[in-house]
Amino acid sequence: MSKQIQAIRGMNDCLPQQTPVWQYAEQVLRQTMFNYGYSEIRFPIVEMTELFKRSIGEVTDIVEKEMYSFDDRNGDSLTLRPEGTACCVRAGNEHGLLYNQEQRLWYMGPMFRHERPQKGRYRQFHQFGLETFGIATPDIDAEVILLSARLWQQLGLTSFVKLEINSLGSAEARSQYREVLIAYLEQHKAQLDEDSLRRMHTNPLRVLDSKNPALAELLAAAPQLADHLDQDSAEHFARLKQILTVAGIDFTVNPRLVRGLDYYNKTVFEWVTTELGAQGTVCAGGRYDGLVEQLGGKATPAVGFALGMERLVLLLQHLDLVPALAVNADIYLMALGEQAELAIHSVAERLRNELPAKRIILHCGGGNLKKQVKRADKSGASVGLILGEDELARGEITVKWLREDKPQQTLLITELAKSLA
Ligand code: ATP
Ligand code: MG
Repeated sequence: MSKQIQAIRGMNDCLPQQTPVWQYAEQVLRQTMFNYGYSEIRFPIVEMTELFKRSIGEVTDIVEKEMYSFDDRNGDSLTLRPEGTACCVRAGNEHGLLYNQEQRLWYMGPMFRHERPQKGRYRQFHQFGLETFGIATPDIDAEVILLSARLWQQLGLTSFVKLEINSLGSAEARSQYREVLIAYLEQHKAQLDEDSLRRMHTNPLRVLDSKNPALAELLAAAPQLADHLDQDSAEHFARLKQILTVAGIDFTVNPRLVRGLDYYNKTVFEWVTTELGAQGTVCAGGRYDGLVEQLGGKATPAVGFALGMERLVLLLQHLDLVPALAVNADIYLMALGEQAELAIHSVAERLRNELPAKRIILHCGGGNLKKQVKRADKSGASVGLILGEDELARGEITVKWLREDKPQQTLLITELAKSLA
């Protein structure tokens, strides 16, 4: 026997028992997008490496060590997309969707990052994301947050997720703050860990995001971005908080929330849960007013978020919030004898015409009645239909109730749909 080839580490199959959970979550997401007037956009899985370097930032974890990049046969450096925002902006610029327009877009699909696989963290994972373009005012920041809150409500997750928000201010305010923060970190260099020392000069704001408990106290006492915000960002943030409060959305301002991608300004937010262990961020996003221009378009304000589908599915399963999974079939058709086996296909097609909402499985592969009924039972169908040579001659079929204690019946094939509807 030859050796089996295994899937790549951190890249999972989604097996038939799990797909109904995914389909359920996807359905809720699609429906909500439809209700809020958002349009779906689809873009390629592979893009030029340069796109992610220029958008996500050269000194971020993603670009420094997580990207799946390779040279294609022409020698171009390509990358399996690690996220969707850069792709969406690239597509929007390329097709003239962004300048001087308002867009509300969403996407869903696989993303790739070479991370250490663990629960809730994989190398191929899936994101649902949305991006809005052309609106600079905080009402749209509030809209995307309210929309995400509705998702939790629809999925029964409201009491298991918490909203954290922060403002990163303008690029200028942030670069001034950056100097203040570096000075503080320099003073306390001796207490910093290796990761933080490395990031201190390249990406000091990320040091604030450190999960190392030994640094918690030091970082809590660090100068805060909130005290260095520019006027415009401070007003924007105040207005957002006001809208959320009036709309009845609970939130916490987390002054250390910075996000791992460079393109954000003003609003950032995360929905976190304590139900999944270390991988607690289910959904994260914010405003990125500079990115469209940075990627070659005309300056266009933008807000968006991305939601980790695996974490959402894990959460739904962990909390037992998945509606009862549907069985595979409603009706299972069987035949005995050569003529009946020929005719059963037409009976099945007739039923499929007459009962388009039913799931109808036709037994294939022959076998005696016992074997066929066993399969029918396993399919989950509630009705078994058995066509024998005698019934065929009379234009009839036997109805066997598989889940009810009812005697079997014989019905005319022409009357069948009426009785089974
Ligand atoms: P984290 O802090 O968990 O690494 P991140 O800041 O890198 O997340 P984003 O790039 O903002 O995450 O992606 C948005 C969401 O996508 C995350 O909140 C998470 O739910 C999901 N996500 C990110 N990376 C992974 C991964 N490797 N596996 C599964 N889901 C992921
Ligand atoms: Mg990450």
